[in-house]
Amino acid sequence: MDKQAIYGLTYGNLENWLIENGEKKFRTSQIWGWLYIKRVKKFEEMSNLSKALIEKLSANFSFTPLNQVVVQESKDGTVKYLFQLEDKHMIETVLMTHHYGLSVCVTTQVGCNIGCTFCASGILKKQRDLTAGEIVAQIMQVQFYLDSKGEGQRVSHIVVMGIGEPFDNYDNVLDFLNIVNNAKGLAIGARHITVSTSGLIHKIREFADEPLQINLAISLHAPNNEVRTSIMRINRSNPIEKLMDAVDYYLSKNNRRITFEYIMLSNVNDRPEHARQLAALLKDKKKLAYVNLIPYNPVSEHDQYSRSSKEDVLAFYDVLQKHGINCVIRKEQGSDIDAACGQLRSKQMKK
Ligand code: SAH
Ligand code: SF4
Repeated sequence: MDKQAIYGLTYGNLENWLIENGEKKFRTSQIWGWLYIKRVKKFEEMSNLSKALIEKLSANFSFTPLNQVVVQESKDGTVKYLFQLEDKHMIETVLMTHHYGLSVCVTTQVGCNIGCTFCASGILKKQRDLTAGEIVAQIMQVQFYLDSKGEGQRVSHIVVMGIGEPFDNYDNVLDFLNIVNNAKGLAIGARHITVSTSGLIHKIREFADEPLQINLAISLHAPNNEVRTSIMRINRSNPIEKLMDAVDYYLSKNNRRITFEYIMLSNVNDRPEHARQLAALLKDKKKLAYVNLIPYNPVSEHDQYSRSSKEDVLAFYDVLQKHGINCVIRKEQGSDIDAACGQLRSKQMKK
C-alpha cells in the first residue's frame, strides 16, 4: 500500500505518532517548521532530527502525493494546475490573484455525486474522496510554485470550491482546515478560508459546532424549491426552508457573515420575481447575508443553460439592493484558461 502523505497529519496526529514511536513531543514543531515554514521536500533535509527519526519518517510517510501534469497561466495572473494522484486520477487547483492577496481554490473529491445540472464536476460521478494529505498538498504545490519565483509571495486565502462537495468528505476536509490554519504551520487565518457547500443540512449544523471560525458559502442558486430542485437534485432531501434553518443555526453559533452563491442562468433563475423571492428569503439575515451573483461558465455537456445578459444581472442586482440585501457581482477570472470549476480536467480527459 502507498504510504500516507506527511501533509495529511494534523499537528496532534503527528505528535501522537511521535510519542507512540518513542520520540519527544517537541519534535512535532521542528518537523512542522521544516514542512510548512522552510518547506523542504525530503525528510533528509530536516537537519536537526536524528538519523533514526528521519529513517522512521521516511519508512512511514511520503511527501507530496501529487504529480504536476499541466500548469497554465492566464493573462490576468490566474494559474491553473492539473495534478495526477498516485492512483492516476486527475484533479485541478487554481491560484487567483486579488488585491487583498493570493487565493487558492482546492479540490476535495475526484468527481462529485451531487449532480447539479449546470456543473462540469458532477459529470464524473465521485470516484473517491481526497485524503487530507492530497488537499493540503495542493496548497503546498502552489506555495512551491510561488517560492520558485523568489518574490516572497505567500498563499494567503483558500476557497474550498474546486471539484467535489466538501461536506461529503467532511472528516478529511476538517483535518485539512485544521492543518492549514495551525499557527505552527502555514497559519492561514480561518477568516481567510471559505468552504462552499451545495447545502448538506446536517453537515452545516455539524460545522457550526466546530471551534474553527471559517467562512461558509452556500450554493443556493435559486430562491424557491421548484427552481432549485430542477437544477440541484440535492434540494429534494435538503429543501430551502430546512437549509435556511441550518444557516440560522450556523449564524447563531458564529455570528459570522455567510455568502449565498447564485449562478445567473438565463431564463431559469434570473427573472425579477426570482430576485424579489430571494430578497424575501434573506430579509431576516440582512446584516450577515451576502449574495454573490456568479456569471455562468458554459459547460458543453449542459447546453440547455446560457449565461444571463448583463442587463438581467444588473436588474437582479438592483432589486436585491432596493431590498437592502448585500450583493456583489463576481468578476470572472482566468476564463482564457478554462479556470472554471471542472473544465480543464474534463478537457484533458477527452484528449
Ligand atoms: N460542491 C461545492 C463546492 C464546489 S463548486 C458547491 O457546490 O458549493 C463551487 C461553486 O462553483 C459552487 O457555487 C457551484 O455552484 C459553482 N459552479 C459550478 N459549476 C459552475 C459553472 N459552470 N459556472 C459557474 N459556477 C459554477
Ligand atoms: Fe458537485 Fe458543487 Fe458541482 Fe454541485 S456544483 S455537482 S455539488 S461540485
